[in-house]
Amino acid sequence: MKNSFFRLFFIIAISATFSSRSFSQKIEPIPVKQFYMDRVNRNLQFLCKEAECLDNVVANDRGLYIYSTSQKVNKPEFVLHWREMPHFNELLQTKTNEEIIDILKRKGTQYFYGINDTHVDPAKYPVSEFKGLKIALDPGHMAGNFEQAEFEKRYVKVEGKYYKQKRDISFFEANLAYTTALRLKEMLEEKGAKVMLTHDYGKSAMGSTFQEWKNSNNTKNDIVSGYKSDWFNREKLDYFLSGDATDFMLFYDVYRNMDFVQRANKINDFDPDLTLVIHYNASENNPRYNDKYLKPVNSNYSMVFIPGSFMGFEIDGNEQLDQRFELLRLLVSHDLEESNVFASNIIKALNDELKVEAVPVDNDFGFAENYSILSDLSTGVYHRNLYLTRVVKGPIAYTEALYQDNVDEIPLLGKTDYTIGGIRTSSRVKDVAQVYLSAIEQWLSYNQEFSKTLDALYEDKYGDEADYQEFLKEKKQKR
Ligand SMILES: [Zn+2]
Repeated sequence: MKNSFFRLFFIIAISATFSSRSFSQKIEPIPVKQFYMDRVNRNLQFLCKEAECLDNVVANDRGLYIYSTSQKVNKPEFVLHWREMPHFNELLQTKTNEEIIDILKRKGTQYFYGINDTHVDPAKYPVSEFKGLKIALDPGHMAGNFEQAEFEKRYVKVEGKYYKQKRDISFFEANLAYTTALRLKEMLEEKGAKVMLTHDYGKSAMGSTFQEWKNSNNTKNDIVSGYKSDWFNREKLDYFLSGDATDFMLFYDVYRNMDFVQRANKINDFDPDLTLVIHYNASENNPRYNDKYLKPVNSNYSMVFIPGSFMGFEIDGNEQLDQRFELLRLLVSHDLEESNVFASNIIKALNDELKVEAVPVDNDFGFAENYSILSDLSTGVYHRNLYLTRVVKGPIAYTEALYQDNVDEIPLLGKTDYTIGGIRTSSRVKDVAQVYLSAIEQWLSYNQEFSKTLDALYEDKYGDEADYQEFLKEKKQKR
């Protein structure tokens, strides 16, 4: 009975929204509810890769419920009513995950105490100009010289014979990624943006090299913490503590994960409007011969990863509380859509400016089939639940631009004709940095348009012109 009454009210309210503004005072809550219902239902399609993930989520007429198990035997772990969602988004701006989880647990199925649901912003207004833009750049990997790059297994070495020359061509991804970030930083700062990099050249985000860490007194403690963080099993823990493990295994399972965590912490502490993770791509099935050389390939593709595509096991069970909270954030906040727009702009700019195409939809890459969901905005953009795409708050794109082992890219990337920040590199990184700048510019204009639609949404809530003008003024001051 109550339900059908509400539905009738809902229909009247919706039609009133479209008819005239003078009625709108009576229908305040409805646009906000519709706005979030649309957002959550749209986002949900890209956040769960498997039915076992979808089973933990219920979105009904009242709100959004996240369960800790797919059988839903216990009470829902998180409950957000539609009209509470603007407040939840405000909490995301001001509180830590742990604090918000605590607030949600105490609130349970009740409404937030003391929150006037109808008079909060429908969403955070995104930044729409370079001035004041806060952007985090995360250049991939950590090698500072070729030897370290060989250890990381992130290098390209090609025999000169493919280019009718004696000398081999060699370069490494950490160098390209870092100098791309430095060049982009320079251009962004010129336009008034605030830029942070997650690490120094040749160092991890902890400020050390792998060898420095290995020779330090912290190694054992860090291995044990890694085990507690579920990075490896008990058997491996014993193996690492025995001292028999190779350096590469220690690097791969322990140090590299510590580095990821530290990168994410630094980014979240900086509280950026936008995060760009910079990598260079390589073809998937190109094995090294003579233990080091790559053969040039003819294909050349880019791809970009954005949040989403949670697997069932990542969401289900008590241990996965953190991942369920990130799922909730990605369902309700604007982060997913903004990431998608940014990533699509990157693919478009790579295509238009560098003539490098996106990975085609029909490909035989394992990651695409098994762990990813293709974006609805662009080919080459994949939702994927990587550590960084999951835990970094705010919009994020994780780029893998062009194939380093492509036949035409190799001589370009192998040049050392450009120096930035005292680091010798290839001038090709300037082209790629320019692509990212264009994509950021496009993203800012998307935000401008988005703000206009929010204004229209808000205008509906105010019957009184003076109130509406007051709201616009406040909004301007907020940024
Ligand atoms: Zn990489």
